Amino acid sequence: MGSGQVTDWQGKNVTVAGLGVSGIPAAKVLHGLGAKVTVVNDGDDARARAQAEELEALGVTVRLGDGATLPEGTELIVTAPGWKPDKPLFAAAREAGIEIWGDVELAWRLRGPDAAPWLAVTGTNGKTTTVQMLASILKAAGLRTAAVGNIGVSLLDAVLGEEQYDVLAVELSSYQLHWAPSLRAHSAAVLNLAPDHLDWHGSMEAYARDKGRIYEGNRVACVYNVADKATEDLVREADVEEGCRAIGFTLGTPGPSQLGVVEGILVDRAFVENRQQNAQELAEVSDVNPPAPHNIANALAAAALARAFGVPPKAVRDGLRAFTPDAHRIAHVADVAGVAYVDDSKATNTHAAEASLAAYESIVWIAGGLAKGAVFEELVAKSAKRLRAAVLIGADRGLIREALARHAPEVPVVDLDRTDTGAMLAAVQEAQRLARPGDTVLLAPACASMDMFANYNQRGDVFAEAVRELGAGA
Ligand code: ADP
Repeated sequence: MGSGQVTDWQGKNVTVAGLGVSGIPAAKVLHGLGAKVTVVNDGDDARARAQAEELEALGVTVRLGDGATLPEGTELIVTAPGWKPDKPLFAAAREAGIEIWGDVELAWRLRGPDAAPWLAVTGTNGKTTTVQMLASILKAAGLRTAAVGNIGVSLLDAVLGEEQYDVLAVELSSYQLHWAPSLRAHSAAVLNLAPDHLDWHGSMEAYARDKGRIYEGNRVACVYNVADKATEDLVREADVEEGCRAIGFTLGTPGPSQLGVVEGILVDRAFVENRQQNAQELAEVSDVNPPAPHNIANALAAAALARAFGVPPKAVRDGLRAFTPDAHRIAHVADVAGVAYVDDSKATNTHAAEASLAAYESIVWIAGGLAKGAVFEELVAKSAKRLRAAVLIGADRGLIREALARHAPEVPVVDLDRTDTGAMLAAVQEAQRLARPGDTVLLAPACASMDMFANYNQRGDVFAEAVRELGAGA
């Protein structure tokens, strides 16, 4: 298929791997372009059958309960991003020299000749927030844009829909990047790199390599995190267009070709005339919502991408002021008797929880859930001095309890020994008992939620409800 646009799909045999949020639209679009589409899917339940029926009515072939065998005559595979690279289907495809594209690669290849450039963001944590900040800044500059990708709005819709864009703010996961070999962004940022999804990628090296693909072929800027050397290493390894610059962001004073913070002001020493001497004020730290350190880092990364696209400083400030974070991301729920209650249910891994805990001085920490193989030693050791107390819930709470015993033995710990949904109310009541005025009760579980809740949204909602009950009783 080469690496360029494919203009003639008529009669091409394309296998779509996986029914689901990316597979169904991909199958429909490819079928509409004239390709002969076969969808293969591992599962064969009632939902899959209903979806299959809908596609079959259009003329798409669907094979349920067999995602392993390569259909005869396949010329291209378009896979759901979550499918693991070591699947037999892919081994067979590689052997036969058949290309494998993910949903992002498909959207990239189907773009029109005058398509909007992409400003792309990846990282272990902060992707959604940064992409939304970026879209807000671009809008403040009067540009037609949308936050798309791993974030709700599908890239296929953005690329093929009626709406015209000047530029897209694109969130990309490590899986999507793995399956997007020819993607070439205008500029891109890797926010941070911490171990995550290692079972899928196979190793930390492979995970980093996939994240690093976002820099390949960048034209204007590769944005990295000065505090996270691994992100800078990825820039160095990337093969970029002539003249593309490495731009760092830092919470400290920026050097030349960096954005950073000086006395409460976000400043740009990268996209200014004479960057050896000059700096441009962009916004105040208080313009960032919430102004927690990790979120200021997200704002700087978004600002760097916007500035790389030529956005004026005032739009950075206006865009940051207009931005409100999604629910369950350091959301202030209420103050009860001088204690702040904060919902960061989205802190589903240790790296995110560490950032969250670093944002407050004296914390009663509600944590626990499914650890997904995580180790809590470093998180607890780094956060110990901020902990007034900890309240533990969920299946893997014992791992956190042990880490607390080793690295923060003086911190009082309540182990609720429960994994039912109602345990959250008990956790909030315990936290209230332990907190002193001026403290923050912080739900930053460092774990996934599925042992006790449907998802992190429900976990956060149940927390907020419990806090409101406290408030009503206070
Ligand atoms: P993602 O889309 O990468 O999951 P989000 O913007 O949804 O990221 O944030 C998820 C969680 O990660 C937040 O609730 C917060 O706890 C944490 N977080 C956000 N930004 C950062 C960052 N720059 N570094 C570390 N943790 C972060």
